Amino acid sequence: MTKRPFPDTERSVRITPQRRLSDCLPPTPIKLPSLSIEVEPPDLSPWIAGNTGIPGVHRFQSSNPGPHAAITALMHGNEYVGAIALIELLQRGITPKCGTLSLIFLNIDAFTRFCPANPILSRFVKEDMNRLWGDIATGSAAASPEQKRVRTLRPYIETVDCLLDLHSMLWPAKPLMLAGPSKRGLALAERIATPPLIVTDNGHKAGARLIDMPHFVRADTPAQACLLEAGQHWSLASLDTTRKTVARFLSLQTNAQMQEQTLPKPEIAHVTHRVTARTGRFCFTRMFPSGEMIAKRGTIIATDGPDEIRTPYDNCLLVMPNFRAARHHTAVRLAQIENREEEDSGRS
Ligand SMILES: [Zn+2]
Repeated sequence: MTKRPFPDTERSVRITPQRRLSDCLPPTPIKLPSLSIEVEPPDLSPWIAGNTGIPGVHRFQSSNPGPHAAITALMHGNEYVGAIALIELLQRGITPKCGTLSLIFLNIDAFTRFCPANPILSRFVKEDMNRLWGDIATGSAAASPEQKRVRTLRPYIETVDCLLDLHSMLWPAKPLMLAGPSKRGLALAERIATPPLIVTDNGHKAGARLIDMPHFVRADTPAQACLLEAGQHWSLASLDTTRKTVARFLSLQTNAQMQEQTLPKPEIAHVTHRVTARTGRFCFTRMFPSGEMIAKRGTIIATDGPDEIRTPYDNCLLVMPNFRAARHHTAVRLAQIENREEEDSGRS
């Protein structure tokens, strides 16, 4: 487990001033960017059947031995730039030079409900599919389309050695790789190094993501997984990032003859705090794109009713701020860059 420089608590970021800021300065709602759709949703219909008997699962086998690599897209139905990248591979008739390659469309039901007039709604049908990958109680009934789909896919995914899960983000953001809590996930993200920012965290209390699935994090398996957050959902920049990350992953996993090209070492940031909105009035002080670094410790980044939310250390990285955080939901994660910390301690 990677060393965490701070406990996963928000005690040191939340301050209730004696003279409450909200008493004298009611938070002014910040102007949010308009979310335009630069990339149209793809036609998934030719690819829904798959070639394995499981809808949406495509499998390609080389005659040369090698690992089973998989790329998954559409965990969230409105994050379709990943699906476009996979469709491009299918249209090209990709075959791995070694091992097995699976290309998997996850929440097809949610994607088919995508509507440009309300593009947020099709994230899922009944519940977030990326909180359902923990151990399931045997004998329990699947209560939602997402649970049913996860149960169908789980035995197949347990045959995967190396997995890249493609996502994108609602608000403007610098792309990042999410490595989760495991060293193997981090090692995979470091090899891919595209994009060059990796964030490690301890997952979600609400349930395990695909990259947190026991198969990928248990000590007794070598399997590894990481997740791309490519940037804003429907932007050309996110599609471009996704294509580059997919190409790099494929060059590492399915082409044993190719000399591995070494890329510059990515920055690694560890999530130290998860800030949860305690009121329905959580409000950032301005528009912070995910990936913005706040130089000074103690900078007020948000108010939450009577509380001020301040950065707990210098060079604090804001990860995926949620500008419409409801009460009890995550508003932002704060992360500390590992490389910078090492450089700083080396100088002192
Ligand atoms: Zn997502």
